Amino acid sequence: MFRRILIANRGEIALRIMRACKELGIETVAVYSEADRDLLHLRYADETVCIGPAPSGQSYLNIPALIAAAEIADVEAIHPGYGFLSENAHFVEVCQSCNIKFIGPSPETIAAVGDKVRAKEIAREAGVQGVPGSDGPVESEQDALAVARRIGFPVLIKAAAGGGGRGMRVAHNDVSLVNGYHSARAEAEGAFKNSTVYIEKYVDRPRHVEIQIIADMHGNVVHLGERDCSMQRRHQKLVEESPCPVLDEDTRRRMGEAAVRLARASGYYSAGTVEFLLDRDGNFYFIEVNSRIQVEHPVTEEVTGVDLIREMIRVAAGEKLSFTQDDIRPKGHAIEFRINAEDPESNFKPSPGLIETLIPPSGPGVRWDSHAYQGYRVPPHYDSMVAKLIVHRATRQEALATARRALEEMQIDGIKTTRSLFLRVLEHSDFIHGNIDTGFIDRFFGQR
Ligand code: ADP
Repeated sequence: MFRRILIANRGEIALRIMRACKELGIETVAVYSEADRDLLHLRYADETVCIGPAPSGQSYLNIPALIAAAEIADVEAIHPGYGFLSENAHFVEVCQSCNIKFIGPSPETIAAVGDKVRAKEIAREAGVQGVPGSDGPVESEQDALAVARRIGFPVLIKAAAGGGGRGMRVAHNDVSLVNGYHSARAEAEGAFKNSTVYIEKYVDRPRHVEIQIIADMHGNVVHLGERDCSMQRRHQKLVEESPCPVLDEDTRRRMGEAAVRLARASGYYSAGTVEFLLDRDGNFYFIEVNSRIQVEHPVTEEVTGVDLIREMIRVAAGEKLSFTQDDIRPKGHAIEFRINAEDPESNFKPSPGLIETLIPPSGPGVRWDSHAYQGYRVPPHYDSMVAKLIVHRATRQEALATARRALEEMQIDGIKTTRSLFLRVLEHSDFIHGNIDTGFIDRFFGQR
């Protein structure tokens, strides 16, 4: 096992990784930008290193600064968390060449599944159906029009290197397709320095259902059930739950098996997620692989009892998974709410600033994963998430009651948060009955 790990991230996930390290008896090195001197996990680290100014390009994405910190602090491994360098194959190669273990998949796997066109090819070879579409990059307007003619409108133009909903455009006719093709390419070039786009059928009011997998370097691949992440705003997740309220046992089993086949086909080790869309007839289609730990991993931890971060660290150290597929028996129902520093009453405008009061919820069935504290100033430079509220109860109905109670208890003053939105969502009969799709928030609560 590792003696010392560097945590190449910030906020709640840095704290989450540190907690796992402490419990494993591993020393931690925390890095931070000049805007992040007040991060909570810095107080608990064995060593802290400032890696640059506030902009993430000069700090959390600054590979030379991170490697220098890792070498000076003499760590054996780096945990990247999510975002930043977590899916950057080049960074993994640099770590390897410096004899530092990267706590995640191999650079080959990250590069292969990170290219969504390539990932769909791997899926097809593994017998996993993707959303019908171009089956490869679309190279011209004519090409785009031909694909749309074949699969029918509406279609979605997506960036091969995409992430965070960027480089994505819906088209309902020839004109919006041609415009969308050019603007998606331009956005993808700007965001990812890769203008490759492909086209998929735009699935009508789907649910987003994903499978958590974990694999070791000895050929063991296990899936840990699904998460339903249909509650999204502009294709960004806000609430995640497990199990999915509408999945039948047969579909659940087939989806899990498909995810494991895809993981094997891409030489996967470490934690990862295989994402699917579930259409209104119960068919599911592969959309992408996230080759990192995800924000919503706690709902899976709650229902399975598996500590995913601990398993990732163990696997990276060369150990075997501590369980088999048969050991995984999910229990109860878990729901996560992303508490973001955003104003839902004002089109989700970011609301950084000083947290004047913070009373976190607690009590039975409540887990609070957060780096925020009273007196903490949320910096404007990064992701707006300040906390994750996770509830876990025997049934979905009980989980909803606990969620309502916990959100009412919770008090954050000084900044606006998504709490008020969730209190309203919890009153909405479609959500109460598990009857939502990825457009739910935008339809009912999007523009006010
Ligand atoms: P990103 O990596 O940018 O987050 P994804 O491929 O994961 O992009 O898609 C994000 C979200 O966009 C999905 O959860 C879903 O809501 C929507 N989406 C993606 N592909 C389709 C599709 N073919 N039809 C309808 N919605 C889609």
